[in-house]
Amino acid sequence: MSEQNLQNMADLVAHCKQRGFIFQSSEIYGGLGSCWDMGPLGVELKNNIKNTWWKSMTNRTDVDGIDAAILMHPTVWKASGHIDNFTDPMVDCKSCKGRFRADQIDLTAPCPTCKAKDSFTEPRNFNLMFSTHMGPVQESAAVVYLRPETAQGIFVNFLNVQTTMRRKLPFGIAQIGKAFRNEITPGNFIFRTREFEQMEMQYFIKPGTQMEAMEQWKQIRWDWHIRNGLRPDKLRFKKHDELAHYADAAFDIEYEFAHGWGEMEGIHSRTDFDLKNHQEYSKKNLQYVDQMDGNKKFIPYVLETSVGCDRCMLAVMSDAYRTEFPGDAEKERVVMRFKPSLAPIKAAVLPLMKKPDLEGVAEKLLADLQIDYKCEYDTAGSIGKRYRRQDEIGTPACLTVDFDSLVDQAVTIRHRDTMVQERVSLDKVKSYLKDKFDL
Ligand code: ATP
Repeated sequence: MSEQNLQNMADLVAHCKQRGFIFQSSEIYGGLGSCWDMGPLGVELKNNIKNTWWKSMTNRTDVDGIDAAILMHPTVWKASGHIDNFTDPMVDCKSCKGRFRADQIDLTAPCPTCKAKDSFTEPRNFNLMFSTHMGPVQESAAVVYLRPETAQGIFVNFLNVQTTMRRKLPFGIAQIGKAFRNEITPGNFIFRTREFEQMEMQYFIKPGTQMEAMEQWKQIRWDWHIRNGLRPDKLRFKKHDELAHYADAAFDIEYEFAHGWGEMEGIHSRTDFDLKNHQEYSKKNLQYVDQMDGNKKFIPYVLETSVGCDRCMLAVMSDAYRTEFPGDAEKERVVMRFKPSLAPIKAAVLPLMKKPDLEGVAEKLLADLQIDYKCEYDTAGSIGKRYRRQDEIGTPACLTVDFDSLVDQAVTIRHRDTMVQERVSLDKVKSYLKDKFDL
Protein backbone atom coordinates (compact mmCIF):
# COMPACT_ATOMS: atom_id res chain seq x y z
CA MET A 1 0.00 0.00 0.00
CA SER A 2 1.28 3.47 -0.80
CA GLU A 3 0.35 6.71 0.86
CA GLN A 4 0.70 10.35 0.03
CA ASN A 5 1.09 13.43 2.20
CA LEU A 6 -0.88 16.59 1.59
CA GLN A 7 0.10 17.79 -1.90
CA ASN A 8 -1.45 21.23 -2.04
CA MET A 9 -3.34 23.64 0.15
CA ALA A 10 -6.47 23.56 -2.04
CA ASP A 11 -7.07 19.91 -1.05
CA LEU A 12 -6.92 20.82 2.62
CA VAL A 13 -9.16 23.89 2.20
CA ALA A 14 -11.79 21.75 0.43
CA HIS A 15 -11.51 18.98 3.02
CA CYS A 16 -11.85 21.44 5.90
CA LYS A 17 -15.02 22.90 4.40
CA GLN A 18 -16.60 19.59 3.45
CA ARG A 19 -15.96 18.00 6.80
CA GLY A 20 -16.81 20.95 9.02
CA PHE A 21 -13.39 22.11 10.21
CA ILE A 22 -13.13 25.61 8.73
CA PHE A 23 -15.50 27.84 6.75
CA GLN A 24 -14.89 31.14 5.06
CA SER A 25 -16.11 34.05 7.19
CA SER A 26 -19.50 35.48 6.12
CA GLU A 27 -19.60 32.97 3.27
CA ILE A 28 -23.26 33.57 2.36
CA TYR A 29 -22.31 37.20 1.61
CA GLY A 30 -19.43 36.19 -0.61
CA GLY A 31 -16.89 35.93 2.20
CA LEU A 32 -14.59 38.44 3.90
CA GLY A 33 -10.97 38.43 2.75
CA SER A 34 -8.66 36.25 4.81
CA CYS A 35 -11.06 35.76 7.69
CA TRP A 36 -12.08 32.23 8.57
CA ASP A 37 -14.60 30.67 10.93
CA MET A 38 -13.88 27.55 12.92
CA GLY A 39 -16.57 24.96 12.29
CA PRO A 40 -17.69 22.29 14.77
CA LEU A 41 -14.61 20.10 14.27
CA GLY A 42 -12.19 23.00 13.85
CA VAL A 43 -13.10 24.53 17.18
CA GLU A 44 -12.60 21.17 18.92
CA LEU A 45 -9.18 20.71 17.33
CA LYS A 46 -8.15 24.27 18.10
CA ASN A 47 -9.33 24.01 21.70
CA ASN A 48 -7.37 20.78 22.10
CA ILE A 49 -4.22 22.50 20.80
CA LYS A 50 -4.79 25.47 23.09
CA ASN A 51 -5.36 23.17 26.07
CA THR A 52 -2.11 21.26 25.55
CA TRP A 53 -0.22 24.54 25.24
CA TRP A 54 -1.90 26.04 28.30
CA LYS A 55 -1.17 22.95 30.37
CA SER A 56 2.44 22.72 29.19
CA MET A 57 2.98 26.35 30.19
CA THR A 58 0.98 26.77 33.38
CA ASN A 59 1.47 23.30 34.92
CA ARG A 60 4.84 24.63 35.99
CA THR A 61 5.59 26.29 39.27
CA ASP A 62 7.32 29.20 37.51
CA VAL A 63 4.60 30.28 35.04
CA ASP A 64 1.22 31.97 35.66
CA GLY A 65 -1.50 32.59 33.12
CA ILE A 66 -3.51 35.73 32.46
CA ASP A 67 -6.21 36.82 30.02
CA ALA A 68 -5.85 40.52 29.23
CA ALA A 69 -8.28 42.74 27.32
CA ILE A 70 -7.90 43.14 23.56
CA LEU A 71 -8.38 46.92 23.82
CA MET A 72 -5.60 48.68 25.68
CA HIS A 73 -4.60 52.22 26.55
CA PRO A 74 -3.40 53.87 23.30
CA THR A 75 -0.07 54.86 24.89
CA VAL A 76 0.79 51.14 25.17
CA TRP A 77 1.32 51.10 21.41
CA LYS A 78 3.42 54.22 21.51
CA ALA A 79 5.65 52.66 24.19
CA SER A 80 5.86 49.31 22.39
CA GLY A 81 6.95 50.98 19.16
CA HIS A 82 3.95 49.74 17.20
CA ILE A 83 2.64 53.19 16.28
CA ASP A 84 5.99 54.20 14.82
CA ASN A 85 7.43 50.90 13.61
CA PHE A 86 4.72 48.31 13.00
CA THR A 87 4.61 49.01 9.31
CA ASP A 88 5.20 47.23 6.04
CA PRO A 89 6.38 49.07 2.91
CA MET A 90 3.55 48.87 0.43
CA VAL A 91 3.10 49.69 -3.26
CA ASP A 92 -0.10 49.92 -5.33
CA CYS A 93 -0.42 49.02 -8.99
CA LYS A 94 -1.89 52.11 -10.66
CA SER A 95 -3.40 49.96 -13.37
CA CYS A 96 -5.24 47.13 -11.51
CA LYS A 97 -5.18 48.76 -8.04
CA GLY A 98 -3.56 45.61 -6.62
CA ARG A 99 -1.61 46.12 -3.40
CA PHE A 100 1.71 44.42 -2.69
CA ARG A 101 4.40 44.35 -0.07
CA ALA A 102 7.34 46.21 -1.59
CA ASP A 103 9.79 43.78 0.01
CA GLN A 104 8.08 40.76 -1.55
CA ILE A 105 8.03 41.70 -5.24
CA ASP A 106 10.48 42.92 -7.86
CA LEU A 107 9.56 46.59 -8.31
CA THR A 108 11.29 46.78 -11.70
CA ALA A 109 9.23 43.87 -13.12
CA PRO A 110 5.64 44.11 -14.47
CA CYS A 111 2.73 43.88 -12.02
CA PRO A 112 2.30 40.20 -11.05
CA THR A 113 -1.49 40.48 -11.36
CA CYS A 114 -2.21 42.55 -14.50
CA LYS A 115 1.28 42.51 -16.07
CA ALA A 116 1.23 46.31 -16.55
CA LYS A 117 4.71 47.83 -16.84
CA ASP A 118 6.01 50.71 -14.69
CA SER A 119 2.72 50.81 -12.82
CA PHE A 120 3.82 50.81 -9.18
CA THR A 121 3.43 53.77 -6.86
CA GLU A 122 6.37 54.79 -4.65
CA PRO A 123 6.60 52.53 -1.56
CA ARG A 124 4.66 53.91 1.41
CA ASN A 125 4.76 52.70 4.97
CA PHE A 126 1.48 51.15 5.97
CA ASN A 127 0.65 50.60 9.65
CA LEU A 128 -0.72 47.13 10.26
CA MET A 129 -2.78 48.00 13.34
CA PHE A 130 -6.55 48.14 13.10
CA SER A 131 -7.96 51.19 14.86
CA THR A 132 -11.41 51.87 16.19
CA HIS A 133 -13.10 54.47 18.38
CA MET A 134 -13.92 54.14 22.01
CA GLY A 135 -17.03 55.93 23.21
CA PRO A 136 -19.73 57.63 21.15
CA VAL A 137 -17.73 60.59 19.79
CA GLN A 138 -15.44 59.86 16.87
CA GLU A 139 -12.60 62.17 17.67
CA SER A 140 -8.93 61.35 17.52
CA ALA A 141 -8.54 61.41 21.31
CA ALA A 142 -10.71 58.31 21.52
CA VAL A 143 -8.82 56.20 18.98
CA VAL A 144 -7.93 52.76 20.30
CA TYR A 145 -6.32 49.81 18.55
CA LEU A 146 -7.12 46.13 18.30
CA ARG A 147 -3.98 44.58 19.73
CA PRO A 148 -1.57 43.31 17.05
CA GLU A 149 0.07 40.93 19.57
CA THR A 150 -0.90 39.61 22.97
CA ALA A 151 2.53 40.29 24.50
CA GLN A 152 1.81 43.87 25.58
CA GLY A 153 -1.05 42.70 27.83
CA ILE A 154 1.58 40.68 29.67
CA PHE A 155 4.15 43.48 29.94
CA VAL A 156 1.68 45.95 31.39
CA ASN A 157 0.65 43.34 33.98
CA PHE A 158 4.20 42.40 34.94
CA LEU A 159 4.04 44.20 38.26
CA ASN A 160 0.52 42.99 39.10
CA VAL A 161 1.47 39.37 38.60
CA GLN A 162 4.86 39.63 40.23
CA THR A 163 3.52 41.19 43.41
CA THR A 164 0.21 39.30 43.77
CA MET A 165 1.80 35.92 43.04
CA ARG A 166 4.95 36.79 45.05
CA ARG A 167 7.21 35.85 42.14
CA LYS A 168 10.98 35.82 42.08
CA LEU A 169 12.98 35.79 38.85
CA PRO A 170 12.95 33.81 36.70
CA PHE A 171 9.22 33.46 36.14
CA GLY A 172 6.87 33.58 33.19
CA ILE A 173 3.42 34.84 32.26
CA ALA A 174 1.40 32.98 29.63
CA GLN A 175 -1.59 34.06 27.62
CA ILE A 176 -3.77 32.87 24.76
CA GLY A 177 -5.79 35.41 22.83
CA LYS A 178 -6.83 37.09 19.63
CA ALA A 179 -4.56 39.46 17.75
CA PHE A 180 -5.33 41.56 14.67
CA ARG A 181 -3.08 42.76 11.86
CA ASN A 182 -4.18 44.48 8.72
CA GLU A 183 -1.83 42.33 6.63
CA ILE A 184 -1.18 43.58 3.11
CA THR A 185 -0.71 40.13 1.68
CA PRO A 186 -2.66 37.62 3.73
CA GLY A 187 -3.17 34.15 2.36
CA ASN A 188 -2.31 30.48 2.29
CA PHE A 189 -5.55 29.62 4.08
CA ILE A 190 -5.17 30.20 7.83
CA PHE A 191 -1.39 30.73 7.63
CA ARG A 192 -1.66 34.50 7.40
CA THR A 193 -4.97 36.08 8.33
CA ARG A 194 -6.06 39.45 9.64
CA GLU A 195 -7.61 38.07 12.80
CA PHE A 196 -5.78 35.23 14.50
CA GLU A 197 -4.93 33.77 17.85
CA GLN A 198 -1.57 33.74 19.59
CA MET A 199 -0.23 31.65 22.44
CA GLU A 200 2.52 33.68 24.06
CA MET A 201 4.71 33.35 27.10
CA GLN A 202 7.09 35.99 28.38
CA TYR A 203 9.75 34.67 30.72
CA PHE A 204 11.25 37.36 32.95
CA ILE A 205 14.91 36.80 33.72
CA LYS A 206 18.03 38.43 35.08
CA PRO A 207 20.01 40.38 32.48
CA GLY A 208 22.89 38.25 31.27
CA THR A 209 20.98 34.96 31.48
CA GLN A 210 19.13 35.36 28.19
CA MET A 211 21.20 32.92 26.14
CA GLU A 212 20.75 30.19 28.73
CA ALA A 213 16.98 30.88 28.77
CA MET A 214 16.94 30.84 24.99
CA GLU A 215 18.47 27.35 24.89
CA GLN A 216 16.08 26.12 27.57
CA TRP A 217 12.93 27.39 25.83
CA LYS A 218 14.05 26.36 22.35
CA GLN A 219 14.16 22.80 23.61
CA ILE A 220 10.87 23.00 25.51
CA ARG A 221 9.02 24.43 22.54
CA TRP A 222 10.54 21.98 20.03
CA ASP A 223 9.51 19.07 22.25
CA TRP A 224 5.97 20.42 22.49
CA HIS A 225 5.54 20.42 18.71
CA ILE A 226 6.92 16.88 18.50
CA ARG A 227 4.55 15.74 21.25
CA ASN A 228 1.68 17.05 19.13
CA GLY A 229 2.67 14.48 16.54
CA LEU A 230 4.44 16.73 14.01
CA ARG A 231 7.09 14.86 12.06
CA PRO A 232 10.59 16.06 13.02
CA ASP A 233 11.72 16.21 9.38
CA LYS A 234 9.00 18.82 8.76
CA LEU A 235 10.31 21.08 11.52
CA ARG A 236 13.44 23.19 11.74
CA PHE A 237 14.92 26.10 13.64
CA LYS A 238 15.78 29.23 11.73
CA LYS A 239 18.11 31.74 13.27
CA HIS A 240 17.36 35.38 12.54
CA ASP A 241 20.36 37.13 11.07
CA GLU A 242 18.56 40.45 10.99
CA LEU A 243 17.14 41.26 14.37
CA ALA A 244 14.08 43.34 15.24
CA HIS A 245 14.91 46.60 17.01
CA TYR A 246 14.07 45.12 20.41
CA ALA A 247 15.83 41.75 20.14
CA ASP A 248 19.36 40.54 20.83
CA ALA A 249 18.76 36.97 19.59
CA ALA A 250 15.88 35.29 17.79
CA PHE A 251 14.95 31.90 16.38
CA ASP A 252 11.87 30.71 14.55
CA ILE A 253 10.49 27.22 14.57
CA GLU A 254 9.48 26.63 10.97
CA TYR A 255 7.19 23.97 9.53
CA GLU A 256 7.21 22.74 5.95
CA PHE A 257 3.68 23.67 4.88
CA ALA A 258 2.20 22.70 1.51
CA HIS A 259 3.27 26.15 0.24
CA GLY A 260 6.82 25.80 1.62
CA TRP A 261 8.70 26.41 4.86
CA GLY A 262 7.11 29.05 7.06
CA GLU A 263 7.40 30.44 10.56
CA MET A 264 5.14 28.79 13.09
CA GLU A 265 6.68 30.12 16.29
CA GLY A 266 9.09 32.85 17.27
CA ILE A 267 11.46 32.55 20.23
CA HIS A 268 12.88 35.97 20.91
CA SER A 269 15.24 37.46 23.42
CA ARG A 270 13.61 40.89 23.83
CA THR A 271 16.06 42.34 26.36
CA ASP A 272 14.52 44.97 28.68
CA PHE A 273 13.09 46.89 25.72
CA ASP A 274 9.40 46.54 26.55
CA LEU A 275 9.46 47.03 30.32
CA LYS A 276 11.92 49.89 30.01
CA ASN A 277 9.66 51.71 27.57
CA HIS A 278 6.54 51.05 29.61
CA GLN A 279 8.35 52.42 32.65
CA GLU A 280 9.27 55.54 30.70
CA TYR A 281 5.81 56.16 29.22
CA SER A 282 3.74 55.16 32.27
CA LYS A 283 6.10 56.77 34.81
CA LYS A 284 5.60 53.68 36.99
CA ASN A 285 8.61 51.98 38.50
CA LEU A 286 8.84 48.55 36.85
CA GLN A 287 12.16 47.61 38.39
CA TYR A 288 12.67 44.32 40.14
CA VAL A 289 14.33 44.27 43.54
CA ASP A 290 16.60 41.27 43.82
CA GLN A 291 16.49 40.28 47.49
CA MET A 292 18.90 37.43 46.82
CA ASP A 293 21.50 39.89 45.56
CA GLY A 294 21.75 42.81 47.99
CA ASN A 295 18.42 44.37 46.91
CA LYS A 296 19.90 45.24 43.55
CA LYS A 297 17.36 46.98 41.32
CA PHE A 298 17.04 46.36 37.60
CA ILE A 299 14.55 45.94 34.81
CA PRO A 300 14.20 42.25 33.96
CA TYR A 301 15.07 40.88 30.54
CA VAL A 302 12.46 38.89 28.63
CA LEU A 303 12.63 35.66 26.71
CA GLU A 304 9.47 35.29 24.66
CA THR A 305 7.89 32.28 22.98
CA SER A 306 5.11 33.23 20.58
CA VAL A 307 3.22 30.69 18.54
CA GLY A 308 0.23 31.27 16.29
CA CYS A 309 -2.57 29.00 17.28
CA ASP A 310 -4.01 28.97 13.77
CA ARG A 311 -0.64 28.31 12.14
CA CYS A 312 -0.04 25.53 14.58
CA MET A 313 -3.44 24.09 13.71
CA LEU A 314 -2.59 24.36 10.01
CA ALA A 315 0.61 22.42 10.65
CA VAL A 316 -1.20 19.77 12.69
CA MET A 317 -3.81 19.33 9.94
CA SER A 318 -1.25 19.35 7.11
CA ASP A 319 0.85 16.77 8.92
CA ALA A 320 -2.11 14.52 9.70
CA TYR A 321 -3.62 14.56 6.19
CA ARG A 322 -2.83 11.37 4.29
CA THR A 323 -4.29 9.73 1.19
CA GLU A 324 -3.87 5.96 1.15
CA PHE A 325 -3.80 3.89 -2.02
CA PRO A 326 -4.16 0.20 -1.18
CA GLY A 327 -4.16 -0.70 -4.91
CA ASP A 328 -7.92 -1.13 -4.93
CA ALA A 329 -9.68 2.14 -5.86
CA GLU A 330 -12.69 1.13 -3.77
CA LYS A 331 -10.55 1.12 -0.67
CA GLU A 332 -8.71 4.42 -1.22
CA ARG A 333 -9.16 6.69 1.73
CA VAL A 334 -8.27 10.09 3.13
CA VAL A 335 -7.31 9.81 6.77
CA MET A 336 -6.45 12.54 9.25
CA ARG A 337 -3.86 10.91 11.49
CA PHE A 338 -4.19 13.27 14.41
CA LYS A 339 -2.53 12.36 17.63
CA PRO A 340 -5.61 10.89 19.39
CA SER A 341 -5.58 13.40 22.23
CA LEU A 342 -5.81 16.25 19.67
CA ALA A 343 -8.52 14.60 17.53
CA PRO A 344 -11.80 16.58 17.53
CA ILE A 345 -13.85 13.40 18.04
CA LYS A 346 -12.36 10.68 20.20
CA ALA A 347 -14.72 7.82 19.36
CA ALA A 348 -17.68 7.08 17.11
CA VAL A 349 -20.42 4.78 18.39
CA LEU A 350 -21.96 2.92 15.48
CA PRO A 351 -24.92 0.56 15.88
CA LEU A 352 -24.64 -1.83 12.93
CA MET A 353 -28.32 -1.36 12.08
CA LYS A 354 -31.15 0.88 13.20
CA LYS A 355 -32.71 -1.69 15.53
CA PRO A 356 -34.00 -0.77 19.01
CA ASP A 357 -32.00 -3.45 20.84
CA LEU A 358 -28.72 -2.45 19.13
CA GLU A 359 -29.44 1.22 19.65
CA GLY A 360 -30.23 0.59 23.31
CA VAL A 361 -26.76 -0.84 23.90
CA ALA A 362 -25.10 1.84 21.76
CA GLU A 363 -26.84 4.74 23.49
CA LYS A 364 -25.85 3.43 26.89
CA LEU A 365 -22.22 3.14 25.79
CA LEU A 366 -22.36 6.65 24.29
CA ALA A 367 -23.80 8.15 27.49
CA ASP A 368 -20.97 6.63 29.49
CA LEU A 369 -18.21 7.77 27.09
CA GLN A 370 -19.61 11.26 26.70
CA ILE A 371 -18.91 12.00 30.35
CA ASP A 372 -15.25 12.22 29.35
CA TYR A 373 -14.98 12.39 25.58
CA LYS A 374 -16.48 14.15 22.60
CA CYS A 375 -18.09 11.34 20.58
CA GLU A 376 -20.19 10.93 17.48
CA TYR A 377 -23.18 8.66 17.09
CA ASP A 378 -23.95 7.56 13.56
CA THR A 379 -26.54 5.14 12.26
CA ALA A 380 -26.69 6.30 8.63
CA GLY A 381 -25.33 4.27 5.70
CA SER A 382 -23.16 1.19 5.40
CA ILE A 383 -20.65 0.53 8.15
CA GLY A 384 -17.79 0.90 5.61
CA LYS A 385 -18.97 4.39 4.66
CA ARG A 386 -19.32 5.34 8.30
CA TYR A 387 -15.74 4.20 8.98
CA ARG A 388 -14.50 6.30 6.05
CA ARG A 389 -16.22 9.41 7.35
CA GLN A 390 -14.57 8.96 10.74
CA ASP A 391 -11.18 8.41 9.05
CA GLU A 392 -11.63 11.67 7.20
CA ILE A 393 -12.18 13.62 10.41
CA GLY A 394 -9.47 11.73 12.27
CA THR A 395 -11.49 9.83 14.88
CA PRO A 396 -9.07 7.35 16.46
CA ALA A 397 -11.63 4.64 17.29
CA CYS A 398 -14.94 3.38 15.88
CA LEU A 399 -17.03 1.26 18.23
CA THR A 400 -19.47 -0.98 16.41
CA VAL A 401 -22.40 -2.52 18.24
CA ASP A 402 -23.61 -5.61 16.38
CA PHE A 403 -25.95 -8.53 17.07
CA ASP A 404 -23.21 -10.44 18.88
CA SER A 405 -22.98 -7.51 21.31
CA LEU A 406 -26.39 -8.50 22.66
CA VAL A 407 -24.97 -11.88 23.58
CA ASP A 408 -21.32 -11.26 24.54
CA GLN A 409 -21.73 -7.71 25.90
CA ALA A 410 -18.78 -6.58 23.76
CA VAL A 411 -18.15 -4.25 20.80
CA THR A 412 -15.77 -4.20 17.86
CA ILE A 413 -13.19 -1.45 18.15
CA ARG A 414 -11.79 -0.47 14.76
CA HIS A 415 -8.55 1.49 14.75
CA ARG A 416 -8.27 4.48 12.41
CA ASP A 417 -4.63 4.06 11.38
CA THR A 418 -4.25 0.28 11.08
CA MET A 419 -7.94 -0.54 10.45
CA VAL A 420 -7.37 -3.49 12.79
CA GLN A 421 -10.50 -4.61 14.60
CA GLU A 422 -10.62 -5.95 18.12
CA ARG A 423 -13.39 -7.23 20.32
CA VAL A 424 -13.58 -5.48 23.69
CA SER A 425 -16.16 -6.02 26.41
CA LEU A 426 -18.48 -3.07 27.05
CA ASP A 427 -17.32 -2.47 30.59
CA LYS A 428 -13.68 -2.22 29.42
CA VAL A 429 -14.17 0.18 26.49
CA LYS A 430 -13.42 3.32 28.44
CA SER A 431 -10.22 2.07 30.01
CA TYR A 432 -9.21 0.58 26.65
CA LEU A 433 -9.56 3.97 24.95
CA LYS A 434 -7.68 5.68 27.75
CA ASP A 435 -4.79 3.22 27.67
CA LYS A 436 -4.47 2.49 23.94
CA PHE A 437 -4.89 6.05 22.77
CA ASP A 438 -3.53 7.90 25.76
CA LEU A 439 -6.66 10.00 25.96
P1 ATP B 1 5.35 36.79 9.75
O1 ATP B 1 6.80 37.11 9.48
O2 ATP B 1 4.90 35.46 9.24
O3 ATP B 1 4.40 37.92 9.44
P2 ATP B 1 5.87 37.65 12.39
O4 ATP B 1 7.35 37.42 12.49
O5 ATP B 1 5.35 39.02 12.16
O6 ATP B 1 5.23 36.65 11.32
P3 ATP B 1 5.36 37.43 15.16
O7 ATP B 1 5.07 38.87 15.31
O8 ATP B 1 6.66 36.89 15.68
O9 ATP B 1 5.18 37.02 13.65
O10 ATP B 1 4.14 36.60 15.76
C1 ATP B 1 4.30 35.38 16.42
C2 ATP B 1 3.47 34.28 15.78
O11 ATP B 1 2.13 34.72 15.54
C3 ATP B 1 3.98 33.87 14.42
O12 ATP B 1 5.01 32.90 14.54
C4 ATP B 1 2.74 33.26 13.79
O13 ATP B 1 2.58 31.91 14.19
C5 ATP B 1 1.62 34.08 14.38
N1 ATP B 1 1.18 35.10 13.41
C6 ATP B 1 1.72 36.31 13.17
N2 ATP B 1 1.03 36.97 12.23
C7 ATP B 1 0.03 36.15 11.85
C8 ATP B 1 -1.03 36.26 10.90
N3 ATP B 1 -1.21 37.35 10.18
N4 ATP B 1 -1.89 35.21 10.78
C9 ATP B 1 -1.74 34.10 11.52
N5 ATP B 1 -0.77 33.94 12.43
C10 ATP B 1 0.11 34.94 12.59
